[in-house]
Amino acid sequence: MEQTLSIIKPDGVKKNIIGEVIRRFEANGLTVKAMRMLHMSKEEAQGFYAVHKERPFYDSLTDFMCSSPVVVMVLQGENAISLNRTIMGATNFKEADEGTIRRDYATSVESNIVHGSDAPETAAWEIAYFFSALDIM
Ligand code: ATP
Ligand code: MG
Repeated sequence: MEQTLSIIKPDGVKKNIIGEVIRRFEANGLTVKAMRMLHMSKEEAQGFYAVHKERPFYDSLTDFMCSSPVVVMVLQGENAISLNRTIMGATNFKEADEGTIRRDYATSVESNIVHGSDAPETAAWEIAYFFSALDIM
């Protein structure tokens, strides 16, 4: 079965909706296979989002991601990568479908509560960024 990397971003942790976000994943067929809370350094956030380093929002995004703790998870399920992104909703919460996490909780394009891998190759890279094989159940 497919695995994907999920992050509950600083805004989601501050809003006290860790449980609600995980509830939605579990209710929609995803299973938590690894989970950890951490407070990234600026360098760790820059490394994670290196794919966006030429984008105008890179510095602000990496500041945001290291501003307070996040929850990182490996989620597993049938088509976990696209299923997770469906549950999250569009990057811009104003374009997100009703009933999605971002539609219900995001407050800006940047502060959009959750991250989810976008393809099998990025999922494998992102999972390995935070977890070793022994961490994944
Ligand atoms: P993520 O990678 O976090 O799951 P995504 O794949 O939907 O989100 P990306 O295009 O990969 O979106 O952008 C990564 C993150 O950068 C977004 O989730 C958002 O927090 C931030 N971001 C993207 N576009 C903008 C923008 N135009 N202005 C500010 N922040 C942005
Ligand atoms: Mg992305």
